[in-house]
Amino acid sequence: MADKISIIVPCYNEGTAIPVFYNELTRALDDIDVEKEIIFVDDGSSDDSLFVMKTLAKRDSGVKYISFSRNFGKEAAMFAGLEASSGNYAAIMDADLQDPPQLLKQMYDDIKKGDFDCIATRRATRKGEPHLRSFFSRMFYRLINRISSTEIVDGARDFRLMTRQMVDSVLSLREYNRFSKGIFSWVGFKTKWISYDNIERSEGETKWSFSKLLIYSLDGIMAFSTAPLSIASVLGLLFCLIALVLIVVVVTKTLIWGDPVAGYPSMMCVIFLLSGVQLFSIGIIGQYLSKTYMESKGRPIYITRESNIEKTPEE
Ligand code: UDP
Ligand code: MG
Repeated sequence: MADKISIIVPCYNEGTAIPVFYNELTRALDDIDVEKEIIFVDDGSSDDSLFVMKTLAKRDSGVKYISFSRNFGKEAAMFAGLEASSGNYAAIMDADLQDPPQLLKQMYDDIKKGDFDCIATRRATRKGEPHLRSFFSRMFYRLINRISSTEIVDGARDFRLMTRQMVDSVLSLREYNRFSKGIFSWVGFKTKWISYDNIERSEGETKWSFSKLLIYSLDGIMAFSTAPLSIASVLGLLFCLIALVLIVVVVTKTLIWGDPVAGYPSMMCVIFLLSGVQLFSIGIIGQYLSKTYMESKGRPIYITRESNIEKTPEE
């Protein structure tokens, strides 16, 4: 059987970027002698992204599109694209040319040798990124790798070429709260890493604000570690020990020097501290509970509004 590569491109308001990306991609793909399919996933864009995709699909029968009923997020778009892909290799790429299509040839040659199931990319530097953001990113990776047994590689991009076997494994994880960086690592398989310098996006603007990134990183931690849940137990134990020591101290003092006047301000401080710790711990449990609640609803990861791919994966 001849090889076929599926390229999956999540797009959210990328109307200006898609044509530029398509040109670069097809030029790079021309160097690779395989069957190709490009799957654009329109993640509920409010611009003309879908129109641009349709125009390309009319010209090129290798272009497929899936359009969501609303914005479901990049994770959902990647899942939909992988689910719709039919190649025995599949790659995920951003529409903004931050993932250089020229690398595909090398990635394909590497995966073809059969020693690896996945050729993944990571950026070697964080050039062009605000310093504060780089700092928090580094902190995040250090933290999550300490408390999670799944390795999350710093600077890993979603740009990766995978074998069908690995794609199917990724698809078998049907969780609603998807954190792909963790999922790719969790399914295992042999991954080869390629590094390249950070490239600034060609058109449009990044869809990530600082608060979005913060929420994303917290979601990542909750998806791949339950360590925060034990914070309450650890703190509880610590405060019990402190309380025991205090009791001994207070009783001894009372026996030797008589009943001292109770310190109101210090008591208030302790009450505030302990209430804070308790609410914080309950908050963490609440976060996990809310994730569990959402998962238990078993909602679909995305909803398609229109597409030119006839075959649904269930068939
Ligand atoms: N994206 C998406 N849905 C979203 C946000 C982003 O499909 O809700 C797509 C976006 O169109 C792009 C890719 O995900 O192709 C990466 O987004 P972006 O370039 O904004 O992220 P960055 O490269 O800055 O991390
Ligand atoms: Mg980008």
